[in-house]
This record gives sequence, C-alpha cells and structure tokens, in this order.
Amino acid sequence: MVPTHEEGREKLLKWLAEEGEAIIDFLQDLLRAPSPNPPGNTLDVARVVRDYLKAQGLEHRVIDPHPEMPNIVASFEGAAPGRHLVLNGHMDVFPVSEDRHGWSHDPWGAEISQGRLYGRGACDMKPGTTASIVTYALLHRLKDRVKGRLTLTCVSDEETFGPWGARYLIENHPEVHGDCLLNGEPGGPESIRFAERGPLWIDFIVRTKGAHGAYVHATESATKVAMAVARDLEELTEIDGELPHNIASAVDAGRPVMDRMMGMGAGDLASKVTLNIGLIQGGEKVNMIPSECRFSVDLRLPLGIDKPALLSKVDQIASRHPGTEWREVGGDEPYWCDPHHEMVEIIKRNVAAFGHPEPTPIISLGGTDARLWRAIGVPAYVYGPYPHGMGSHDEYVDLEEFLHVVRTHLLSAWDYLCA
Ligand SMILES: [Zn+2]
Repeated sequence: MVPTHEEGREKLLKWLAEEGEAIIDFLQDLLRAPSPNPPGNTLDVARVVRDYLKAQGLEHRVIDPHPEMPNIVASFEGAAPGRHLVLNGHMDVFPVSEDRHGWSHDPWGAEISQGRLYGRGACDMKPGTTASIVTYALLHRLKDRVKGRLTLTCVSDEETFGPWGARYLIENHPEVHGDCLLNGEPGGPESIRFAERGPLWIDFIVRTKGAHGAYVHATESATKVAMAVARDLEELTEIDGELPHNIASAVDAGRPVMDRMMGMGAGDLASKVTLNIGLIQGGEKVNMIPSECRFSVDLRLPLGIDKPALLSKVDQIASRHPGTEWREVGGDEPYWCDPHHEMVEIIKRNVAAFGHPEPTPIISLGGTDARLWRAIGVPAYVYGPYPHGMGSHDEYVDLEEFLHVVRTHLLSAWDYLCA
C-alpha cells in the first residue's frame, strides 16, 4: 500500500535511526579516500560513492569530461507528475600541507574522538554530500509515493572554481537543472543560505620610465602610482547596491546571525563591496625608481551591485593615473534566490520540529556550487554543518550535527516532493 505523507515520513525516520551507524561508516569511507584539490583527482572517492549506490541497487551515470574528475548523476521519476528537486554536493576537498601542520589527527584517517569525526573534508563537504546521497537512496525506496523527479549530482572540481564539475553539468546536461536545489555545504545549522556575493578578480599593471633612485625629478615611480591606485580603489567599497524590498529585509534580518556565526562585522559585509589587494610586486632594487608594479585585487560584490557599473568605476579610477592598465581575470555576478521560497519554510519547519533553533536565511560570504543553479534561475539553498577547521587543520564534524543535517535534507526533500 502506498504510504501517506506522514507514514512516509515515519518510515524515513525509522530507516535513519536504524542505519545511522552505517551512514557514519559511509562518511568515514569517503574521508579515507583522499581527494585534495589541487590536483583534484576524485577517482577514489567516486568509487566509494558508486559502491554505495550499487549496494543500494541504484542506477547512476558517470559524466567525466576530465578523466580524473568524474561526476556522478542519478535520477528517478516518481509515480505521479510533480516538481524536480536536485541534490548537489562536491567530492573534492581542500589540500593538506605536506608536513600536516597543525593536525592532531590523521587528515585521511576519519578518526572519531568525543563525538567528533576528524579529517580533511569532514565539514567541507563530505557530510553534506553524504546527506544528498542518503536522501536520494532513502527517497528512492518510497518512489511509488514521490511526485515528480529527484536528481542526485555528486561533482568534482569545486574547490578551484574549475570547469569540469557542476559548471560542466549545468552547461551540457540540462536534465540536472531541476526547479529547486538543495546543497549541504558547511555554514552552520542556524542558517539557510540563499545568496552569495560575487567574486571579481582584477590584475593591475603600472608602467613608468624608471630611473636612478636619486633622480626623482626624472620619472614617476611605478610603485608609488600603484599605491595611489590602490588607495583610490577603496572608493569602490562605498558603492551601495539596490535590492528589491523583500530581499533587503531578509539581508537585514540575517545580519545578527552572520555576526554571531562568523564574527562581528560579518553581517555588514552582506551589502558591501569588499576589496583585498592580494598580491603586489614592484621594483628591482632599493636605489632604483621602479618602472613597473603589478598588483592583483580580489573584490567581492554584494547583492544588488551591477558588475558592469563597478567595472566602469574601476576604469575611471585607473584612468586618473597615467601608465595604469587593468584587466578582469575572472569572476561571477552575485546571485541570490527567494529567501521566502517554500523550501526555506520547509527546512525551517524540519529543523524546529526536533527542538533546534529555527534557522535564518543569510548570505554566504564564500562561494559554493549553488550559485551556478541560481545563475540559471533555479532557487538553490544551502543547509550544512558548522565549518570547524575548514580549509585549515583538524577539520571535523560533530556527529550528532551531521545526522541532524542528513535528517533535515531527507525530510525536506520528502516534503517538497510529496506534499
Ligand atoms: Zn565546499
């Protein structure tokens, strides 16, 4: 007999309780399959994912435009027409320095100590990817009750914004677009992320005639001009974006949560252009006036800032300083989706139902693949564990929190496809 929505929910919770240990074992297996990026080879971890899917009897495809960076895609149609939910997680992780500086646990050992599971990828983002896979596998068991379609995408090549992972799928496989996306990147279970700032990287080069260090009357100094350009670039941080009213109020409501989760001041960055001069290089010798200086700028564009308008301001600033050239190296627009979407309400309800504080929609300061779906107009939400040790050492996930994230993804996918 086909279960009701509520019976299905009870079944999912029962399976989750019975299989909790096995799910943790699976996450440990993923962590013991190193997938640092660079170089980004994910063959081992992809094998672990495929073995799990096979053991569950789940068909899947491997799409590997780069032979060492496979993407795994699985999809099933429910018994009735409906919506299309896509689950997405990446399999690559940050690298670990050769001397394993700062690690008190083996970064590839998946050791458990005092309720915490340690390892590279233990928060970013093998737990989130596990949540996607488990959600897919358990909902598949109830596919006769599912309305619409559920798609799983486990991708490579996320950590370096590369072209072989989610971006490749989005551009070449429209069957993974769907009409809503759920992703488990770390952020913290008090938040649901509905937006990201857009990174924009620009290289500058200043050239002057150059001269002996004592002949300051003979030439401008390229390093001094570069410093003046860099100082003027601070003007960019004063540009205000314009947001639709409902987005602006969500951004405001999220500020205190961002401050609490990411440190005081983080909330303000949601609506500000930020400027970082990441690299600077100029001059050859202390007693020579430099004829060349290069520097690289990392700007982050908040929601509501128009990139072409910002670039024209960059050009204006550069043109004030003769000998200055610039070029855009790469970047993305800031993307966001509806902070009041049905999926946001579903996630909130499923978190609060288990006594956890209701999460607040906020803007992500860093980047995730969710932006690629937002860029094509698909609402995409991120709900994941705290980023303990992310990109640093002794990365870990609290196991209870991990199972909470899995449960939230599972029930939210069920509610979205079966309500
Ligand atoms: Zn990540």
